[in-house]
Amino acid sequence: MKENIPQDIQYIKGVGPKRAEKFSRLDIENLRDLLYYFPREYEDRREVKKIKNFCPGSEAVIKGRVIEKKIQNIRKNLSVLRVTFSDDTGTIDGVWFNQNYLKNKFKNGDYFYLYGSLNNKSYKYNKKDINNPVYESAEKTEYIHLKRITPLYSLTSGLTQKRVRKIIFTALNQYANLLEDILPSFIRKKYNFLKLTEALKGLHFPEDRKQYIKAHQRLAYEELFLLQLLVLNRKQGALKKQGTIHHDPGEIINSFINSLPFDMTDAQKRSWQEIKTDMEKNIPMQRLLQGDVGSGKTLVAVLALIETMANGYQGVIMAPTEILAEQHYIRLSEMLKKLDFNITLLVGSLSSTQSKKIKEKISSKESDLIIGTHALFQEGISYSNVGLVVIDEQHRFGVEQRYSLKRKSGNPDLLIMTATPIPRSLALTFYGDLDVSLIDEMPPGRKPVKTMWYRKKSRAAVYNFVRKQLKSGHQAFVVCPLIEPSEDISALSAEETKKELTDKYLNNFNVSILHSQLSADEKKQKMKDFHQGNIDVLVSTTVIEVGVDVSNASVMVIEDAQRFGLAQLHQLRGRVGRGKQQSYCIVVAEPTTEDARSRLEVFTKTDDGFEIAEADLKIRGPGEFFGTEQHGMPDLKVASLIKDQKILNKARKDAQDIIKQSKLETEFPLLYEEIHKLEVKI
Ligand code: ADP
Ligand code: MG
Repeated sequence: MKENIPQDIQYIKGVGPKRAEKFSRLDIENLRDLLYYFPREYEDRREVKKIKNFCPGSEAVIKGRVIEKKIQNIRKNLSVLRVTFSDDTGTIDGVWFNQNYLKNKFKNGDYFYLYGSLNNKSYKYNKKDINNPVYESAEKTEYIHLKRITPLYSLTSGLTQKRVRKIIFTALNQYANLLEDILPSFIRKKYNFLKLTEALKGLHFPEDRKQYIKAHQRLAYEELFLLQLLVLNRKQGALKKQGTIHHDPGEIINSFINSLPFDMTDAQKRSWQEIKTDMEKNIPMQRLLQGDVGSGKTLVAVLALIETMANGYQGVIMAPTEILAEQHYIRLSEMLKKLDFNITLLVGSLSSTQSKKIKEKISSKESDLIIGTHALFQEGISYSNVGLVVIDEQHRFGVEQRYSLKRKSGNPDLLIMTATPIPRSLALTFYGDLDVSLIDEMPPGRKPVKTMWYRKKSRAAVYNFVRKQLKSGHQAFVVCPLIEPSEDISALSAEETKKELTDKYLNNFNVSILHSQLSADEKKQKMKDFHQGNIDVLVSTTVIEVGVDVSNASVMVIEDAQRFGLAQLHQLRGRVGRGKQQSYCIVVAEPTTEDARSRLEVFTKTDDGFEIAEADLKIRGPGEFFGTEQHGMPDLKVASLIKDQKILNKARKDAQDIIKQSKLETEFPLLYEEIHKLEVKI
């Protein structure tokens, strides 16, 4: 008979109700969560140093025998426990503050391993002290904290490294073999994977590199396999649903295309055909429209929206910021003005009477096209008959939101536009349920933006250059990391910069400022003024990052650019280079870290979005790749999307086979249950 597995973490040895609460902050609720809580890194503590050879500057493990113990009460709230250890080469003191109770652990004559670094100050007086060393009795057969490759876990307050390590160590030994292995046995055999117990032990407490690698392979596979099953299963589910059927509306779209002042690029035509074909099927479309900034995604989305509206459905387009939603509203109203559609803007900052009116227009079907921000999810909005939802700049929204809008509006077709080129591995992992259309060519006549990197000391020269651009009739963006000066962060603020430009570098020009603290009306007015050329230079924060389209702007200056991520820099650069003139992106930066330097180097070297995205993923992890506001992007616990691409491809292939050939729910109930849990989490 199987020993019972504790369902609740508090019944696991060493935990209890109080610590269970703390573990729950780390999302650890049960045994499986605990055993799958993997180290964030390891320290090699296998080598033991002689006391004589132990010097300040790095940590080391030593082995010594207790020869003396002393407690000093220094003052009311400070006592010091000093335990002296010796080996055949010298002595060393372990020093603990306010932990007198430890005294009983160290019996004279007993051997211990200690780990830590030497106190510099006492070393000057020829004494070797380690403050708060990690210690472990040397009389054991198996070590947890020392004399091994030691795991280090991410912690939360109230849980120490030593505590978590011990609890996991004990739980592994006691229960790991009772944990059900969710990988089907034919897969385990196929790859000759380690047994689950061994893999778990090998990842938490690897004996050597070889064991770690084998454990990693198995658990990385498991993680990616589950994610693949999740996305593919979702897709399968969606395929089964009855979607919105669109019929070819014929002339209206052709004449719209013919009325454009330019020809569509081949990539735009191809993407549009793919989308149209999907829309005219009776299964719901789930498609990602990927294309670098300025590649002309909006036009393709507009065609899809015309198709849905001409079929009598409502179209919805959702943007990540109010500025962008408003800009879509202005641009789409202009583009569609010859067609008789009713276009509605819905953003957060509306008075309640306004918003009531708008909601009524939506539910009564008076609106044909609704453009908005996440306010589109608001309670109290009932869509009557949505045929197509377009989500712009998807990386700002989570998977969760994407599904919640769909739930609100029935089963419409879904088109997600993104300018962030998503590396293939990420796309497969997180968007495996989407089909992809790629706009991989720019409209003709665009000159690539020239990118330059200057140090701060050259700012005068930078703005001299900007001045020349302004004189020839162009406009400029200047982006700063902060809105106003900050005591804690040393970076230029938009306010300081605006003043400096107005007073000094660009004093004859109209310099204005735009940031998120302005009211919606003010922002709208500024964007309008900039569009119309009343403002020469717009100093701003990253509010202009996404989608802002002013083709007369020829320079983008990014101050303290070391503070921005690569994808963000690339987005910013995409704001220029939209007209016929040569455009420039100038980063002013003093990188202080290796990462920041490599970001800037990649950025100045290439403006190929995919190259940038791959480099960015390498420098940051996948979770961060989408920015901090991202929801629904689980950070992978084991697998790396850079290093484990081969494993990913295998996992994807296997998941595809299973989904194709079997009924997950009945044939692989364990997997089914597991991906269901995942679905709830992300
Ligand atoms: P994206 O949304 O992909 O960043 P936009 O749709 O905003 O790009 O397009 C950028 C600019 O290029 C717009 O001013 C648009 O009118 C123009 N444009 C789009 N397609 C073409 C084309 N085929 N030829 C020339 N200009 C185009
Ligand atoms: Mg766009």
